[in-house]
Amino acid sequence: MNKKTIKDVDWQGKRALVRVDFNVPLSDGHITDDARIRAALPTIEYLLENGASVVLMSHLGRPKGKPNPDLSLKVAADHLDALIDAPVRFCPETTGPMAESTAAALKPGEVLLLENTRFDPREKKNDPEMAQQLAKLGDVFVNDAFGSAHRAHASTTGVAQYLPAVAGFLMEKELDYLGDALENPRSPFVAILGGAKISDKIGVIQALLEKVDTILIGGGMANTFLVSEGYPMGASLVEQESIATAAGLMEKGADIIQLPVDLRVADQFAADAENKVVNVEDVPDGWMALDIGPATIAHFSNWLAGAKTVIWNGPMGVFEFPVFAQGTVAVAEMLAGLEDATTIIGGGDSAAAVRQAGLDDKISHVSTGGGASLEFLEGKELPGVAALNDRE
Ligand code: AMP
Repeated sequence: MNKKTIKDVDWQGKRALVRVDFNVPLSDGHITDDARIRAALPTIEYLLENGASVVLMSHLGRPKGKPNPDLSLKVAADHLDALIDAPVRFCPETTGPMAESTAAALKPGEVLLLENTRFDPREKKNDPEMAQQLAKLGDVFVNDAFGSAHRAHASTTGVAQYLPAVAGFLMEKELDYLGDALENPRSPFVAILGGAKISDKIGVIQALLEKVDTILIGGGMANTFLVSEGYPMGASLVEQESIATAAGLMEKGADIIQLPVDLRVADQFAADAENKVVNVEDVPDGWMALDIGPATIAHFSNWLAGAKTVIWNGPMGVFEFPVFAQGTVAVAEMLAGLEDATTIIGGGDSAAAVRQAGLDDKISHVSTGGGASLEFLEGKELPGVAALNDRE
């Protein structure tokens, strides 16, 4: 990576203004998965150990530019306080006099978390006034929010205009893993793509066709490919407007793209739907494909055997319903079982599936950023990275 990192700064007596990604899943006001908070700890602890005080900012959920008590970051401040050996304060404002006076009073070794940046409508507009107000809260800006690096917002890129700007350890690790996989992959290099929408992933498939040996496609997006190959898909989710694009990709990637050969179909979209396994040519009228079937799992497993680099993004089915999670769990197990392979999971649902299965420690790198990792794989420059200072 050619960007400066926190190791390039003398932190003694400085205030670090750190953009983290504490956009954690909540249920009834409790954090259900604290992986994103834990992922920021190495950076926070390094800064504290090296004599800095730390002002943290993050978004949480989609408050649409208005304060919303259900999306307050107070819960994350309390959680962080329990995780680290340093006092963690919370400021119920993101910018303004209270944030400024609390940040100014911080002593080395102390942490302050600001309220949700997206309570302020100026955040998503990358408003320069908000960026300047944020910049008053620190001496050096650190971006450790890989999961938000594909967004040009006041707290991710705007603030970098007004302060020296460096990458945190999580940002560095994410870019190193994904960058290495794309630039120096060991072959065979296999990509596994799933999830609902093909329109979101067309750019990624195009970019990966130039780089990988094989692309295994499952999940809802496989349906549109199967229709483009002439299979009727009953009541399955199909993106009509993407059928022609899918056909073009199949033509270009004839030797590279592998589709499901069988599917678990359901008579309705429900956890307790009646379901059965059928070959791709036999999807009955009115039934919908909600998972890949066992023959597809075996087919994908053959392509994965011996792979040395694997990137996976998107579930193989509606894994939120246990009976349709089998394909996704099987892929997670296959990746966990690969020996001498670099395995990378591109965030979002597939990362959640791997954690649920307790397999995350058997994966080389589980990314914290779904959208950001997809844009990176697509070859796009992430604005949150571009805004950081280059290494001389
Ligand atoms: P994405 O955000 O595009 O990665 O899609 C993730 C979502 O795709 C998950 O919520 C899954 O339930 C959904 N999904 C996966 N496979 C299917 C399918 N065959 N039909 C409908 N939805 C699916």
